Amino acid sequence: MTNPDSQTPTWRIAVIGSGPSAFYAAQFALNQKDVDVRLDMFERLPVPFGLVRLGVAPDHQVVKRVVNIYNKVAAAPGFRYFGNVELGRDLQIEDLERRYDQIIYAFGCSKSSNIGLPGEELAGVHGAAEMVGWYNGHPDFRGERYGLSEVEHAVVIGNGNVALDVARVLLQPPERLAPSDISDAALEELRRSSIREVSMLGRRGPAQAAYSAKELEEVDEVDEVELVVSKQEATPDPKSAAWLEEHGSRGKQRSVRYLKTCSEREPDQHSRKFRCRFLLSPVAFLGSERVEAVRVEQMEIYEDDAGVLRSRSTGTTQDIPCQMVLLSVGYRGDPLPGVPYNERNGAVPNVDGRVQHEPGGDVRAGHFAVGWSKRGPSGIIGTNMADSRATVMCMMEDRRSGSGLNPSSDQDTAELLRERGAEVVTWADWLRLDAWEVAEGKKRGKLRQKLETVEEMMRVIRELRDAEADS
Ligand SMILES: Cc1cc2nc3c(=O)[nH]c(=O)nc-3n(C[C@H](O)[C@H](O)[C@H](O)COP(=O)(O)OP(=O)(O)OC[C@H]3O[C@@H](n4cnc5c(N)ncnc54)[C@H](O)[C@@H]3O)c2cc1C
Repeated sequence: MTNPDSQTPTWRIAVIGSGPSAFYAAQFALNQKDVDVRLDMFERLPVPFGLVRLGVAPDHQVVKRVVNIYNKVAAAPGFRYFGNVELGRDLQIEDLERRYDQIIYAFGCSKSSNIGLPGEELAGVHGAAEMVGWYNGHPDFRGERYGLSEVEHAVVIGNGNVALDVARVLLQPPERLAPSDISDAALEELRRSSIREVSMLGRRGPAQAAYSAKELEEVDEVDEVELVVSKQEATPDPKSAAWLEEHGSRGKQRSVRYLKTCSEREPDQHSRKFRCRFLLSPVAFLGSERVEAVRVEQMEIYEDDAGVLRSRSTGTTQDIPCQMVLLSVGYRGDPLPGVPYNERNGAVPNVDGRVQHEPGGDVRAGHFAVGWSKRGPSGIIGTNMADSRATVMCMMEDRRSGSGLNPSSDQDTAELLRERGAEVVTWADWLRLDAWEVAEGKKRGKLRQKLETVEEMMRVIRELRDAEADS
């Protein structure tokens, strides 16, 4: 198709999701000079930005400022936002194949991975992803209640940055979080919390931990919180120490040094402890109805035949009493109807962003993946920039070589959604709601007052639209 005004060919792209990877892909696609790109972005929630709004911790507001870049992308000619439109509910893949030249999957991975251990179903055992959604006001996790007034000791399984986020949110004085955009319900429950200690368990040693040094130090820097680690557990085994010295990144070396310093200082009077534990792997959650302890086995590091350092059980176990467990062992995407799925990492199978019919199978022309839908749940916001750019490069290469979807329908997607009775949130609607949330927050001394149900969001959006039409 050609734009009659400019004689430039028109290229229609559908993007599913509105997190960082979706916006970076939109930015690179809309910047193409030799083609008139029309890009429609579909988001299942009324509100955009994925994990930037609903994952990044409320005390990491500087990180959330990245949305200023996404706002500029949304202002570009050729961009349309369809909020409150879910692939699989309001639209099917075939609808998109009939209307677009290319489709980009950017729907991320939204659930906590299970570890499949006995006792995982006990009350008090939760996924970290659900807790993250809860304190960030995600409509899907609004009902979560943690009974924090009954919890003195929580155990976090896993030692990545998400584990540190939940530990920090649970341990810090709630009044520090009050001026942020934290969910009101979460803040209220944190105010009633009896938590005195959070233990974070890693199955390998301090040299192999997944967190960044900065995030580790940040917990210790919170007033009233003290990082506690035994000298024995803070000291890498000789093989890991040698590896760290020779191959470890500066960040890894820094975090191990930091732990060593913490292990050598005198215990102080901080009222809340953040205990870092290493070489402990959970084998069961114990309790009758509610979790009462985690049974862990002691691990050791060994070098396998290929020279890789791995952990294995020593055969001894111990029970760590606690009243709550948070599983922070990764995220997983759910399969979407009509979209290929890779069981291994919960993402869309692909080669360099070109989607495959099944893992290892043929490429499905016109279908692409970016972000966590492409790589599985790994990488920070910035990782998605180069990654989305690489996928868009493949898309443009395929366009030039004539590979695409050959859309057959002239009906605009907005018209189709109207016919189906979907209530679409446009970018102008989102900007109204955004301004409303900020203004409501200001009245309450917060950065933003998030609405936490889709119904409330839609009600306020309708009111704001009506008020603007009347004025
Ligand atoms: C708890 C947590 C904290 C983090 N903190 C930081 C941090 O401080 N700094 C940092 O740099 N990185 C951080 N990250 C990493 C960062 O958030 C990710 O790299 C990034 O969000 C991945 O982007 P994405 O676009 O692939 O997925 P997402 O951000 O998850 O976006 C996916 C979007 O798709 C939508 N969607 C899902 N299904 C459908 C459907 N069927 N139809 C339509 N839309 C759909 C979702 O609602 C969502 O909006 C954090 C991650 C987590 C989990």
